[in-house]
This record gives sequence, structure tokens and C-alpha cells, in this order.
Amino acid sequence: MIIHQPEIVPAGSEVRMQARVETRAPNPGFPDSIWFSYPQAYAHALSTRADSPLAALVLVAMALGEDVECRGEASPRLIYNLSEYQRVFYHWQPQLLQKVGIHAENLTPPPANQFSAGYATTFSGGVNSFFTIQQMLTPSLKSPQWPLKYALFLQGSPDLPLAYQRKFEYLAERYATLAQELNLEWIPVRTNLMRFAANRIPFNLLLEAPLVGAALGISPILAGMVIPSGRMYERYKDAAAGPMTTYLVATESFEVITHGGAFTRFAKTQAISDWKPAQNNLRVCLDWHDDTDMNCCYCSKCLRTRMDLNVIGRLEKFTTLKSPFKFKDLILWGSQMEIGFRGEKDYLEYAWKQRKELLPGILLGILVGTPLRLARKYSPNWIKKSVFCVTDENDPENTFVQNPDIPENLAE
Ligand SMILES: [Zn+2]
Repeated sequence: MIIHQPEIVPAGSEVRMQARVETRAPNPGFPDSIWFSYPQAYAHALSTRADSPLAALVLVAMALGEDVECRGEASPRLIYNLSEYQRVFYHWQPQLLQKVGIHAENLTPPPANQFSAGYATTFSGGVNSFFTIQQMLTPSLKSPQWPLKYALFLQGSPDLPLAYQRKFEYLAERYATLAQELNLEWIPVRTNLMRFAANRIPFNLLLEAPLVGAALGISPILAGMVIPSGRMYERYKDAAAGPMTTYLVATESFEVITHGGAFTRFAKTQAISDWKPAQNNLRVCLDWHDDTDMNCCYCSKCLRTRMDLNVIGRLEKFTTLKSPFKFKDLILWGSQMEIGFRGEKDYLEYAWKQRKELLPGILLGILVGTPLRLARKYSPNWIKKSVFCVTDENDPENTFVQNPDIPENLAE
């Protein structure tokens, strides 16, 4: 794979960093160039270094089994780190990925950051994002080590595919107001990276690549980024955007930190459950068709989040989720949940200590839902597809259809 010298080009109301990508063998559906688009106001911040497209595409090169040749300036530290990065992913997915060589003509450390450089976090509106922002902005909890200045909202990640433009515009506007309230600079970014990865790499491996690629594209104004961890320390395996791999995608002047790996999702939900910005804006849904504030409330992530909040006793405070949590919801939740993934233990422990009246309901949900879940797990693939297909099967960016077993692995 050849990643050509990145260039900066205008693209409608945005400004785009793009690099031509050539592969040895033809690949159907492969775009000619990888791009990241930013608002015009950040034109001065764009980098023409190869660090961004390289970090974004390394897993794609591994899936193709092609060495990478970088024509732009690349960070020596990043090149070293990416070989370690490859070792982790290869260890996880030896059937799917190969270790590849990375060669750069021009190995140059990036210049020191601008005076105004700050840290960015990625924000999708979900539990992990709100938890990280809350922990970093709340005065008593504030992390002076990584003062947050920016929030990146990305379209073109598994979290919000490029095809859903109206949803992106709607959310970008809504979250811009929120960012203003939180005193963060808001940067919506779009990328076509998923088109390179579609049908080649499971989405749970490709969670940090678009985020880090987007941040490295404006590395002159960033000292680093904080990625809300989608995984816990003890459950890091086979998924990116967890505590294991993110820190490796660093250069001499840009570091990546994962935040929140020590907390269960239930603990995170509890932490943000009384926080107004989360109560008014939480978005956990797997459905992108609807251009409203509401989550669908019935996909696996919606059900899990509603159940969390129901147990905590805060569901009615969340304006983007339906309440109350009815008997039907309880059965649906039971049929979706994975026993042994700690969720049920958290609920039972919490209810035992604080809300004993909920115990029969939780047990009933588990007892009635589990046979339904097992039936779904062991049913033929065509049934799984119809159950799990959360978006258009013809959409080439949709990797979910290829991975019907693990919708819960989505980072949000
Ligand atoms: Zn949903």
C-alpha cells in the first residue's frame, strides 16, 4: 500500500486533508484517497504529515497483507509504535491480519506544538463519552494532567457511518450547544476511512483508528487526545479503544490516553445519572435513521442503558430515553443481555443494597429472557441477520451485518 503525500483541499463548507492510497492488488470498493474533513475555521490547524492517514490505515494494510510505503513526513516514534500496535492486533486476530512492514521516505519528528495546543476528547453522546467529560471537567475531579480544550465529534466511524448525513448534521448542531455550555471547543470531523475497512475488518477492531486519524490530522493544535475507554482493564481483549492499544498511536508531540477503563458501564452510568448535560443529551442507540433527540429505546444498547437507569432510579430524568421501564422492557432486556458479563451482578448487588423491591423483577427478566437469548444465539445465520441488521445491508460501510453476534461491542 502506498500512502501518498497528504494535501489540503477545500471541500464545500469544510476543509479536507486527503492522501491518495494505492494498493498492489485491486480492491473492489476501495476509494482512491483517504480523507478527513474539518470545519473551515480549522484550516490553519491541518497537518500535511503522513501520521494521520498512516495511523488510520495500518489495520487495513494488515488485513490486505501489504507493506506500507509512506510518501509524506512520518514520525519515527509513530512508526516504532505501530509495529508494537500490529503485534497486539496480530495476536488477537492471526487469521484475519498479517504483520506488515512500514517504510517512510521522510522520517521526521513533528515540530513542537503551538502555544495554544490542548487535549481533545472524542464525543459521541454515549455513556463513556459523558463519563470521561464529566470526570475531566468537574472541578473536584478535574484532571489537570490533561486539560481538555476540544471535543471531536466524528462521522465515518462505526459509531455514526458516513451515509447518515442528516443525523450527523442534526447531532453536530445539538452537541455544539452542549460543548458551549461545557466550555469546550467543538470540532465535527468526517472521514471515509470505513470504506477502506468495510467487509475486511470487524468494527470492534477499528474503533480508535478513525478517532486517532481525525486527531492527528489537526495535530499542530493538539498535545494529545483522551479516548473514553469502551473496555475495562480486565476485558480488554479483541477490541480497540480500550486500555491496551490506544496509547501506542503516539508521536513525539502527540499522546493518546484512554480514560475510564477501571469502571463498569453501570458505574459510569451511575456517575452521570444526576448530571444535567447527560440527562438531556445521552445518545446510546444503534439506530441512525431517526432525526430526533430520542433513542430508539429497544435496541440492545438502549435496553441496557434504560435498565441501568431504571435500577438506579433515574430513568425518568433522561429526556432522550423512554420511561417508565415496563414489564415488556424487562423481558426484552433479559433476552438481550449476556449472562456472565457482569451486568446482572451489578444490578443484583445494587438492588440488594439500595432497592430490594426491584430484585424479583430483575430475576424474572433474567429467567424469562435467557432462553430467548440462547434461542437467538444458536439460531441460523439468516435469522440472526434479520434480528441484528440495524441498518441498510446495501450500505458498504455497514460492518454490523458481517458481525451479527456482537452488537454490544460497539463503543459509544
Ligand atoms: Zn436504540
